[in-house]
Amino acid sequence: MTPPVDLLIRNSLLLCAFDDTGTELPGGWLAVDDGVIVAVGDKDTAPPEAETVVDASGCLVLPGLVNAHQHLYQNLTRCYAAAAHVDNLTDWFWAYFTAWGRLDAEAVAISTTVGLAELALSGCTTSADHLYLHPEPELIDAQIQAARDIGVRFHPVRGSMTLGEADGAICPPNLVERVDDVLDDSRRLVEAYHDPTPSSMVRVGIGPSTLMSSSDAAMIESAAFADAFDVRLHSHVADDPDEEAYVGARFGRRPLQVYEDFGWLGRRSWLAHVVYPNHDEINALAAAGVSVAHCPSMTMIDGGLPGGPPPIRAMLDAGVNVGIGCDGATAADHQSLWLETKTAMLLSRQREGRASAMSARDALRMATRGGAHAVGRDGEIGQLSVGTNADVSVWRMDTLPYAGVLDDPVTGLMHCGPASAWHTIVGGKFVVRDGEPVTVDVPEALRRHRAAASSVQGLTCQ
Ligand SMILES: [Zn+2]
Repeated sequence: MTPPVDLLIRNSLLLCAFDDTGTELPGGWLAVDDGVIVAVGDKDTAPPEAETVVDASGCLVLPGLVNAHQHLYQNLTRCYAAAAHVDNLTDWFWAYFTAWGRLDAEAVAISTTVGLAELALSGCTTSADHLYLHPEPELIDAQIQAARDIGVRFHPVRGSMTLGEADGAICPPNLVERVDDVLDDSRRLVEAYHDPTPSSMVRVGIGPSTLMSSSDAAMIESAAFADAFDVRLHSHVADDPDEEAYVGARFGRRPLQVYEDFGWLGRRSWLAHVVYPNHDEINALAAAGVSVAHCPSMTMIDGGLPGGPPPIRAMLDAGVNVGIGCDGATAADHQSLWLETKTAMLLSRQREGRASAMSARDALRMATRGGAHAVGRDGEIGQLSVGTNADVSVWRMDTLPYAGVLDDPVTGLMHCGPASAWHTIVGGKFVVRDGEPVTVDVPEALRRHRAAASSVQGLTCQ
């Protein structure tokens, strides 16, 4: 007799695999053993016996969402008063630097815990994170421990700022690092934590913050480091008029041209924002296999960008891989990847002036397959296929926000809401179950977060 598998999710309203052929199974089920999907079937096929059975009646079953760009530490300065009425990127950085200069291991750890818990509630099972401020050593070590405790796959990017005020750039002296120190610490992190295996829970990348705060050497040597250690390469680019003006004055080139000059346009790169690409730049990104992390709220929260929303439809049509990121809490002030996916759908429709420019399935494919590809994990996560990791999000569709959604729960999930995942499962293990986080003590986490946020903001602990 065949032994039972570890987990069976059965009786779904609809299972959408987001595989290469767009498999959608009414009444679908999936079976999990040792953290991997071992079988997928429809209502007419019999599932195997399982130790744990989840009845997904009335639920939409999707792959776990993949967050392609994030700065978790920024949830310590949400709605920070000093930055409330800042209208450009340069002033925005300066408004926050005093607070961010107070980051310590406890602040970074608890902001990671709270951020990943909020992301898990939005169906996210893998998150990148870009920490480019290091007022103390080993902050990413604290993040990795927090991520392991909560059970979300974690892709920390060892960021940096290597040009300061004295160089005409945007970084105070206490946060500027030497390139050799950045590379040494990146090597230490890769050797200590980077796991390239398909079931990996932690993969380390390298990523200078922006051209506005990075030396030529930091850009060039980071790309060489990524090649040498076979890790991903990440940064922000073309996200604000201030950056275009700064880069034009320093290099006499457009930002993406500078990235190309520095050896960044290749398959191991994924770039956040890319709000202003022209036709030739879009084609260059596609030809080079560079992925884009689209963070739609970031383009709106400060009043929108003069060029309007980014041309995501054109990028997808040209063959650019696009994932979705929440960006830091100061750029979105929420960490719901469901909401960011919905916002991406709406923003592209607004830009193109037609609903067909971005379907619910298009948006969810970016949030699953697009994100998986961006962080270098196509075929491992972001789809529900035999042999992929059992990273699953389960959404109840028999609740008030979805009353009347009878034909198409996928479109319903994106058009209606607000939504929160009913179950979020990573490698076959529950991180959210019945709508509640199960790997974190939420009241205790909020108490620690309030103390850390008060300290970082320079307030008396409340
Ligand atoms: Zn960012």
